Amino acid sequence: MSLLVVGSVALDTVTTPFGEARETLGGSACYFSTAASFFSDVQLVAVIGEDFPPEYVSFLQERKIDLSGLQTSAGQTFRWTGRYNYNLNEAQTLDTQLNVFETFKPQLSERHRQAQYVFLANIDPELQLEVLQQVEKPLLVACDTMNFWIESKRDALIKTLGHVDILIINEAEVRQLADEPNLVKAAHIVRGFGPQTLVVKRGEYGVLMFSPHAIFAAPAYPLEAVFDPTGAGDTFAGGFFGYLAATRNLDEACLRRATVFGSVMASFTVEKFSLDRLRGLEMSEIQDRYHHLLAMTEFSMPD
Ligand code: AMP
Repeated sequence: MSLLVVGSVALDTVTTPFGEARETLGGSACYFSTAASFFSDVQLVAVIGEDFPPEYVSFLQERKIDLSGLQTSAGQTFRWTGRYNYNLNEAQTLDTQLNVFETFKPQLSERHRQAQYVFLANIDPELQLEVLQQVEKPLLVACDTMNFWIESKRDALIKTLGHVDILIINEAEVRQLADEPNLVKAAHIVRGFGPQTLVVKRGEYGVLMFSPHAIFAAPAYPLEAVFDPTGAGDTFAGGFFGYLAATRNLDEACLRRATVFGSVMASFTVEKFSLDRLRGLEMSEIQDRYHHLLAMTEFSMPD
């Protein structure tokens, strides 16, 4: 089943306590589509500038991602500069340059308009809605965002959320969006904006999913060495939504398995800078971590 994603394709400059990477491949749509491509066909809609390195395009092509919706415009590619201190759960944004995204007007092809699974990765909520409104009959719509848009485009974001089934954001963003410090109350408020299911990313503490019928908790995969957390959230979303698109099933058990696959995919991304760890990743490695997480969380009531 084909999955359409709109989001950022970026050149990231990232500093962590363990090193620095300059102008590497990044962006919400790149992490998302690479992770999702392990489970499903992916169609990417985004814009790059004329300065975008061709080897990064080749990387996405090697993952068999449909790049017919990746437009090249005159100007510079979107750039993000961020830093992490020893608390790797919190990115500090040093600079955001929208560049070619400032004037991007996506026009979906006839084939892309038929997409059934649509992921609105982190980008301007007005752009997210513009893309979604061109899709004829979406079966399932999921969305991500960040503090940058909650602060600068709150009304547009809330309008977009009215068309979304699943929202995947981090804990601080749930509180900020709801303007409510208690996470359970905040989740209730955010689900009131539209999304029936809210997936709350909590960094190394895992994920909490508030679905219509239950709350589910999945731990992050325990790693001894986390090198660069950039893209963990988008990679989580790619594994999660890619799995849902592949199974075409939305029952509670399937949503739960999707959160575990999302956690597994994110655990690989953070082991290296940029998307380097996903290059050459084998399905058998994904399955191994999935089964390890299952074993870690299994318990039952004593007789
Ligand atoms: P995360 O999964 O939250 O770590 O996402 C990191 C990615 O988000 C980086 O590769 C950035 O290029 C991208 N990013 C950062 N800020 C923005 C923004 N305002 N809009 C879209 N993408 C962004």
